[in-house]
Amino acid sequence: MPDPQKQILGVIGDPIAHSLSPLLHNFVISRLKLNYCYHAFHVRPSQLSAALEAFSLLGINGINVTIPHKETAFHLVHRLSDSAREIGAVNTLHFHENIWWGYNTDGIGFLKSLGKLAEKLPDSKTIIIGAGGSAKAILSALISQKVNEIYIYNRTQSKAEILAREFTQKTGFQSIIPLENEAQNLTAIISEASLLVNTTPLGMYPNLEANPLTENIEIPKSLIVYDLIYNPKHTKLLIQAKNAGATVMNGLDMLIHQGIAALEIWTGLKIDISSCFEEIKGLLESKL
Ligand code: NAP
Repeated sequence: MPDPQKQILGVIGDPIAHSLSPLLHNFVISRLKLNYCYHAFHVRPSQLSAALEAFSLLGINGINVTIPHKETAFHLVHRLSDSAREIGAVNTLHFHENIWWGYNTDGIGFLKSLGKLAEKLPDSKTIIIGAGGSAKAILSALISQKVNEIYIYNRTQSKAEILAREFTQKTGFQSIIPLENEAQNLTAIISEASLLVNTTPLGMYPNLEANPLTENIEIPKSLIVYDLIYNPKHTKLLIQAKNAGATVMNGLDMLIHQGIAALEIWTGLKIDISSCFEEIKGLLESKL
């Protein structure tokens, strides 16, 4: 039974059983001796609106939102942060002053995870593979870093075109370029880019052999190859990039940082996890 003295936070999704968020948040809550506890709630799409109503009535003020609710919840909240509005989806809800506020911390999580590597972004060429929900958060984050160009490469080319048009209109950033689905184009851009981010599920467990790049594409040593996937730790893409001498990162650091950014919103505290970051990572990796 939850301790009645503790405020309840949680994550909603469908499915939700394998979410790492309760482990992450409860570790940090316990380490920082915060008066909260964090639970996973299985909420089906048809129940989303009723669930938010119930959470607010029960005093559950902080909720993370995961697949498939990020876009529907965006339309249900009363107020949106600037980044949530730009991205068009929410991953964090806060019931505050009697209304639901919607935030998106995926972009902040991504940038924080890059750390010093983010210094390579201004004025550089960058590539996003995929044009779904997480691609929007990465697009918004890259625009904020004053990159020079963002290329979008997606299986369904029309979706990359729509995304580029939408974000150009929303942000005024003129250099979002949808790529034609030909490996030749990608090879040329990769040779000059600072960062490539995979936002597709290609290579995610159990489809370990899938790779968003063809194996004969030349990856320069100067490229940062970032895969939002964290299970497995090293996707086929990351192994290919590491073998080519590039800098590689998986999505686990982003997952941790987006969660901490949400906890900061709910608690109003500045949360520093630098002293236990590796411990948290090890804990999450042990559950994958
Ligand atoms: P999404 O909205 O469903 O978008 C998926 C994208 O992948 C679409 O562009 C889709 O292309 C493409 N895609 C899907 N299957 C493909 C295939 N077989 N071949 C080629 N392209 C394919 O999903 P999302 O929410 O962006 O999530 C994408 C990935 O990011 C997931 O693996 C998720 O776990 C991960 N993620 C990680 C974090 C983190 O914190 N590390 C946060 C968010 C998401 P089409 O347009 O052609 O359908």
